[in-house]
Order: sequence, then structure tokens, then C-alpha cells
Amino acid sequence: TQVQMPELLSQLVTRWQKQAPYHRFVLSLPPDLPPVMCDAVRIEQTLNHLLDNALNYSAPNSVVSVRLETNEVEMRIGVIDEGIGIAPEHLERIFDRFYRGSQGDEQASGSGLGLAAARSTVEAHGGRIWADSMGEGQGTSFYFTLPLAPRIETAAVPQRTRISEVAEPVTGPL
Ligand code: ATP
Repeated sequence: TQVQMPELLSQLVTRWQKQAPYHRFVLSLPPDLPPVMCDAVRIEQTLNHLLDNALNYSAPNSVVSVRLETNEVEMRIGVIDEGIGIAPEHLERIFDRFYRGSQGDEQASGSGLGLAAARSTVEAHGGRIWADSMGEGQGTSFYFTLPLAPRIETAAVPQRTRISEVAEPVTGPL
């Protein structure tokens, strides 16, 4: 599906702000962004998971920033919190299945599957996902990218050419 990412992000931020009134959400969007081809359901799940984690691992009254940036080839979405942070040696492992940080053990709800699912969704789209943190207590930034246009091979075939190539209407069983 074609997704208008700025719209999706503002809808999600509005929804989460209602659910978490003590956190302060800050949304930053670029002007005029083309729609992106993606699996809207899975990308929304990914965003919801990152937002849910940002809230779970940070204190009320702190800021959760959601930012969308873009260049010619890809868009980059960031979910940035001011929470407990992640030690450098754990930054890669948090994307492993069932991995949960020490603090995570105290949270009854988590399974450690969320970020592994987020990574497989993003990679299925040809993007990358990673986390940055200056260390424990320093907040965490999650970023993922999505390619802006489909690959050249498909993008280069104009729709008109393909339609005119169909000389006869297809009548038989498919
Ligand atoms: P669930 O699968 O329900 O999300 P979870 O939060 O434990 O449970 P992941 O989302 O995969 O699982 O996260 C794995 C671990 O990464 C967490 O246990 C936590 O230690 C760490 N983590 C994830 N997001 C953050 C964050 N925003 N700040 C600090 N640590 C985080």
C-alpha cells in the first residue's frame, strides 16, 4: 500500500499522547513528502512497538520525539526517548529474539520479541533499523529507514506501456 508517512505519524502521535498524557510527544516532519510503498499494517505495528518501548523505558514528564527525515533515496524515522538508555554492549543484542535487558525482567509484559519483529519488518522492506544511546540513563534513539521508490527495474516500466502490450483481452481461465 501507499502510505503517507507524515499523516500516519501524526495520527499515531495523537493517539499515544492521549494514552500517555504525562509524557510530552514532539513530532517533527519535513514538508511535501511523497507516499511510500510499504506494508502499512506491519509498519504501523513497528512504530507502535517503538513508541510503546519509549514510554515503558522512560519516566512520565519526559519527552518522546518522533522525527521523519528524508533524502532522495530513503526516509528515516526516529523515535527518541529520554529514558533509562542502553549500555553500548547491549545495543545490537536488543534486536535478538527473546533478548531482554536487565530492567526488562522487572516488566512483566515483555517477551523480548518486539524488536526482533521490528527488525524483520524493516529488513523485509529493504530498510535498516538500529538504536543509539549514549549509555545508561542517557535516553535511547531508535531509527529505521525505508527506501523511497521501488527498485529501478519495476519503476522504469511506465504503466501505459504495460497496458498497451496487452493486445487481446484475457478470456480463458487464469
Ligand atoms: P516486548 O517483546 O513485549 O516488547 P520487550 O520490551 O522486553 O518486550 P523488545 O521490545 O524486543 O522486548 O526489547 C528488548 C529489550 O531492549 C528490552 O527488554 C529492553 O531492555 C531494551 N529496550 C527496548 N526499547 C528500549 C528503550 N526505548 N529504552 C531502553 N531500553 C529499551
